[in-house]
Amino acid sequence: MSGRILDGVKLASEIRAEVAAEVKALSALGIRPGLAVVLVGHNPASEVYVRGKVKSSLEVGLYSEQHSPAESSTTEELLALIDSLNRRNEIDGILVQLPLPGHVDSKKILLAVDPAKDVDGFHPMNVGNLSTQRPGLVPCTPAGVMEILRRSSIPVAGQEVVVIGRSDIVGKPVAMLLLNQNATVTVCHSKTLDLPSVCRRADILVAAIGRAGMVTRDYVRPGATVIDVGINRVTERAEFDRLFVSGSGDQIGKAKRLESFLAKGATLVGDVHPEVAEIAGAITPVPGGVGPLTIAMLMANTVKAAKLRRG
Ligand code: NAP
Repeated sequence: MSGRILDGVKLASEIRAEVAAEVKALSALGIRPGLAVVLVGHNPASEVYVRGKVKSSLEVGLYSEQHSPAESSTTEELLALIDSLNRRNEIDGILVQLPLPGHVDSKKILLAVDPAKDVDGFHPMNVGNLSTQRPGLVPCTPAGVMEILRRSSIPVAGQEVVVIGRSDIVGKPVAMLLLNQNATVTVCHSKTLDLPSVCRRADILVAAIGRAGMVTRDYVRPGATVIDVGINRVTERAEFDRLFVSGSGDQIGKAKRLESFLAKGATLVGDVHPEVAEIAGAITPVPGGVGPLTIAMLMANTVKAAKLRRG
């Protein structure tokens, strides 16, 4: 029996429609929430992400602007740009696309963003707000994970949740959000002993590792909910075969995946092995699971920032 597929594309489009309605209501009051995206230099992956963010902003009716300082920009020049965005009232959200070039002091830049406009939720003030359950801005991907669970009517309170990964961007904030909603949370990392048996305790397993298909069947208690945050690009045929050739699973899906892999020379895979779909109670696919929620939550965060900041 295959698990229920938690369709992130559908959920993200619901959220975007709700955000668009809120933007419309705010504009009737003379407020148009505004998002400024800062993209330093020419990282091709970052350019794709930023294009998606700007496009989505316009679709939901936000005011949006992109700043593209040169790769050679200094920390001081970028601090001056952040300062000017902090001061402008029509800008409610500031997003600095990471990674920044190596010579730039990233921590200094992120610390300079006004916490009230920190739509990525990375400022220590917002990290503190989250851990002390005060109103604030929450990182987009973890917020997206919570929306998937809530909108799919998967209970969190009282459940055993295991999070694999303890990054500041995903693992720690998602663990804190789950704890705030009364889950019993275990956070695992590369030094955790006997990871599969810890993971098998989970009613809800969240994988945020960055290793293609690492979470195999023996990590998952049959019937558990599995949230796969990982996005990994697989280009080797042997790795593709390890992930998609074995198992009974969805044969039509696998055939389509192979066709696309052969045409493009690559495919995107989560941290969870596709075979897990055969035993999970519910599971997010990759692509089309957590990923689409991230941009939708950025839109929602920009509207939230406008409301919190402009009263
Ligand atoms: P990260 O900063 O590299 O953190 C990875 C975490 O996984 C670390 O805590 C690390 O442990 C742990 N880990 C690594 N190998 C492990 C192993 N063998 N066993 C147990 N734990 C292990 O990555 P991240 O930024 O959190 O991202 C995680 C994944 O999510 C990546 O695939 C990324 O592309 C994806 N992602 C997706 C979205 C989205 O929109 N869907 C957004 C952000 C990130 P240590 O702390 O001990 O090193």
